[in-house]
Amino acid sequence: MPQNSRRSFLKDLSVGLGAFSIANPLPDLAAEAVPKTPRKLGIALVGLGNYSTKQLAPALESATDCYLSGIVTGTKDKESVWRAKYGIKKANTYNYENFDSIASNDDIDIVYIVLPNSMHAEYTIRAAKAGKHVICEKPMALNAAEGQAMIDACKANGVMLSIGYRLHFDPNTIEIMKLAEERPYGPIKYVQSEAAFAIGNNLDAWRLNRELAGGGAVMDMGIYCIQAARYATGEEPIAIRAQETKTDWGKFKEVDETVTWQMEFPGGAYSNSTTSYNLRANRLYVSYAQGAALLEPATKYTGIKGRVFRGQNPVRTLEVQTVNQQERQMDGFARGVREGIPSIVSGEEGLRDMKVIDALYRSLATGGKRVEI
Ligand code: NAD
Repeated sequence: MPQNSRRSFLKDLSVGLGAFSIANPLPDLAAEAVPKTPRKLGIALVGLGNYSTKQLAPALESATDCYLSGIVTGTKDKESVWRAKYGIKKANTYNYENFDSIASNDDIDIVYIVLPNSMHAEYTIRAAKAGKHVICEKPMALNAAEGQAMIDACKANGVMLSIGYRLHFDPNTIEIMKLAEERPYGPIKYVQSEAAFAIGNNLDAWRLNRELAGGGAVMDMGIYCIQAARYATGEEPIAIRAQETKTDWGKFKEVDETVTWQMEFPGGAYSNSTTSYNLRANRLYVSYAQGAALLEPATKYTGIKGRVFRGQNPVRTLEVQTVNQQERQMDGFARGVREGIPSIVSGEEGLRDMKVIDALYRSLATGGKRVEI
């Protein structure tokens, strides 16, 4: 859902609920045709690497609206281990060759693509053609053209598409979005977003391989900075300038190491972001005309915390968050699928970031010139 229609959707929702509570008693849902315990939707994870193993599969154990019903892996050894651990049927185990036959499996409603970036488009399109709803990890694709093809394939096959933007389900991040929407401290003047980690020395890692990753820190972590600047302003950037710094030409011969960029927003806000595979940073700072907000850390799985300031005085603490973002993200999508409501982190939302990334790389290629988005 575009940011604007998402906003009006939220407004409509709150107006609607307000109207109910004042004028009418809440409707008796039990009296309507809503089943008491709707069926949990089955999710198949495609790619059983780190993120699937350590975050998504455990989150699916506590999810209320979906569960882990299938796996797709190229590693034979993982099949029996995962089946035993999560009680997955043998018939719900696929590899990359027989993946398309998932079409006839009624236990699998949603396919979650957790593969190296270059495989996102192919597997999303194959899942859509198999008639399955799709969650695809970030970055949704290698570029906007691929992202658009994924959206088109999902539309053509009547399935929903969502991107793994878990932070939209973190309460403190939602608070930053609200500050952008309600503007209690006036217009947004400046956003600083940083997301970086030190990648280690495994030169075979797919993240260092251009063909598999599509780029370096920008694709993996910079996308969090772009997201942050977009949701902290509630606006789409109109232009970008980007600069790259490289200190390790061996490790980062194929992909970007450290990139800094500035974006202009239509309301007059300006952002500055840094991402890197060679240092640590995890912060979002938003400066409003009469205040500020800080999230630090800003992108962790748990523990996001911060403060809100009026002028320079802290007026509110954004308490440490321990919610399970992935569980909320997948449950939210499952409910949306069941009720026919598009994801708040839709394919279109992913595409907006891909357009920024395309422009960022165009700016880098021109030595940092201003590029319109
Ligand atoms: P990973 O390397 O741990 O796992 C990748 C999986 O893909 C492995 O199981 C691997 O066997 C499989 N694979 C299939 N074909 C491959 C090939 N040709 N080369 C390499 N691996 C291949 O990676 P990960 O950290 O789990 O990341 C997977 C995706 O999830 C990435 O797109 C990443 O950006 C995304 N991710 C998102 C978050 C988040 O917070 N939303 C966090 C981590 C990763």
